[in-house]
Amino acid sequence: MGAGLKNRGKTREDVDERRKAIEESTGVELRNIGAVPLDPEAASKNIENMIGAVSVPVGFVGPLRITGDHASGEFLVPLATTEGALLASVNRGCSVITASGGANALVVKDSMTRAPVFRVRDLRHAVEASSWIENNIDRLREAAEATTRHGKLLRADPFAVGRSFFVRFSFATGDAMGMNMATIASEAAARLIEKETGAVLISVSGNLCVDKKPAAINSILGRGKIVLADVTVPRAVLEEKMHATPEAVAETCYRKCGIGSSLAVSLGSNAHAANMLAALYIATGQDPAQVVEGSMSTTTCEVVDGDLYISVRLPCVEVGTVGGGTRLPCQAEALSMIGCLGEGKASKLAEIVGAVVLAGELSTLSAQSAGHLGQAHSRLGR
Ligand code: NAP
Repeated sequence: MGAGLKNRGKTREDVDERRKAIEESTGVELRNIGAVPLDPEAASKNIENMIGAVSVPVGFVGPLRITGDHASGEFLVPLATTEGALLASVNRGCSVITASGGANALVVKDSMTRAPVFRVRDLRHAVEASSWIENNIDRLREAAEATTRHGKLLRADPFAVGRSFFVRFSFATGDAMGMNMATIASEAAARLIEKETGAVLISVSGNLCVDKKPAAINSILGRGKIVLADVTVPRAVLEEKMHATPEAVAETCYRKCGIGSSLAVSLGSNAHAANMLAALYIATGQDPAQVVEGSMSTTTCEVVDGDLYISVRLPCVEVGTVGGGTRLPCQAEALSMIGCLGEGKASKLAEIVGAVVLAGELSTLSAQSAGHLGQAHSRLGR
């Protein structure tokens, strides 16, 4: 083991020294990982033990026309992936949406959650702690908000199970995705509960939050932003561009996303929402592990007056335009491509996420209804 492995520094020299130690230790030359031009100091808040960077191909889809409360106009959207055929497919969806007049996309709820778990003596103690919380929400707010300029405590919902006691805090987190912010603020509020009620804080995250695990509570109540998007595709546009009929796409969606997902007891009833989320999250510096929650989305299709109506409900769009990975230079450029870098842009980004997922769902359901999915993958992805 080289001395470089003990090095905790964050400068380029530290990173080079550490990578050389890993090369010696593993016998593998890391020429490419060392050559990706990412300034270690720019990434200093994003990683420890850095030895270099990996590159992921990035492309674009669009123009995608969106009419939202925050995102309005035509967008060229960056997506990063290693899945061949994905961008071609999403791009086809964008072209159909834009030819149909654009997607509606709206953020209908915005709150990030963290749920500490406490140990209480018994059920009576849990009930006492619950009423203390109900009667002291202003004190909890003051404690939580002392840790942040932008975070606001919206709710504190208690749940008692035997000698375990959970408080699910919900926060508005401004333009940050907010997980660090909500965690730090929750810990301050949890310490106050501990001091005033005698409930013993066991963990600031009690898994009722629920971060990075699929869970019905998130699917129903939402986490981060709940985003809705829809479009009506005229029959002629669908037939010309997708070689599919509204009836066939609607039936595919019903039997696949409705019955198939129900039979599988899947928490998501969609075609492949996770694909668009992962590619957009990686390109724009979001936390890719939160694709887990994002994947629990619902896609619906109906034939309305002979045309295809398609919608998506995304209950967990956990995105930010400040903080986290958005500080990194490539990711900041990708956010700038869609006018989403910095203050006042998080809801705009969430609406773009909704419209891009809609485009991917439309394209894949159309391809499957027309029997084109396998052909496209063998032509473009192998
Ligand atoms: P963050 O970078 O830790 O915090 C956001 C920062 O931006 C805060 O310092 C905030 O200041 C500041 N800020 C400036 N302008 C703002 C604005 N307009 N709106 C909101 N904040 C503004 O990011 P985060 O979003 O809280 O957390 C995201 C990171 O958490 C990601 O790297 C993710 O991977 C990681 N993560 C953490 C956990 C965890 O449990 N801790 C879990 C999952 C993911 P103020 O706070 O003073 O307002």
